[in-house]
Amino acid sequence: MTSFETILYERPAEHIARIVLNRPETFNAQDTRLLYELNDAFDIAAQDDQVKVIILAANGPHFSSGHDLREQDPYQNMADFRTVGTWCGFTCAGAEAQMAREKEIYLGFCERWRNIPKPTIAAVQGKVIAGGLMLIWPCDIIIASEDAQFRDPVVSFGIGGVEFFAHPWELGARKAKELLFTSDWLSAAEAKQLGMVNQIVPRERLEDAAIEMAGKIATKSLFALKLTKEAVNVAEDSQGRVQAMQTSFALHQLAHTHWLKLYGTLLDPTGFSPEIKKIIGAKLDEQ
Ligand code: ZN
Repeated sequence: MTSFETILYERPAEHIARIVLNRPETFNAQDTRLLYELNDAFDIAAQDDQVKVIILAANGPHFSSGHDLREQDPYQNMADFRTVGTWCGFTCAGAEAQMAREKEIYLGFCERWRNIPKPTIAAVQGKVIAGGLMLIWPCDIIIASEDAQFRDPVVSFGIGGVEFFAHPWELGARKAKELLFTSDWLSAAEAKQLGMVNQIVPRERLEDAAIEMAGKIATKSLFALKLTKEAVNVAEDSQGRVQAMQTSFALHQLAHTHWLKLYGTLLDPTGFSPEIKKIIGAKLDEQ
């Protein structure tokens, strides 16, 4: 079994694999290592015929504070990992390296995980910010604890939403615009009302609720589950989801390039108000 530094890979019950984000001291901020380990763990679960359902959970008070903006030299770090896609140029100048990196570990990974041919369940507590959404939206089912809150504040620093732009599909166009334009929080209750969350449970029930749901699903034929997932995913994709997301990703890259030209940084530095710093919490306290 592969050993991991930033996640745990568990088999809590028959036919169920559970992947746990395990950087609670950073509120599970996602650095390059965590994303590659998560991808490896999804591959292990996907390729194990004994596993029928995969749970994605997180240790600590918050599910994920998003991408780890404190990571040093992220482009060079790409050399430490065996890339999954066919894109290259991770250390190139201009816009090329950033696009390559984001195409591999953000858009590429999320799309890969969304298409794993087995049911996936995200068990979510506390705050889920920006890139945090990119871990739960690719999952098939989302179970949230009562205290869960969701937010994509990246418009506040000059980018039109996170790289895996599922907002309109998850929330509907009108609510997606409101949340993006305002950077406001979305409560678990409202997320359930909008259809983004399947079930809300008390915090102490979150782990059991995910295993109960996974157990119920695991009584079914894996082949039937696989075909069912494919059928629902194709229904979304035939409405233009993939093309829409590719366009959103290109617009996202344009915004990074704009701020690079203006300020030499990927985000609008004037957007980091004290309020936004507070939202993002620990990961910005050193900047
Ligand atoms: Zn980006």
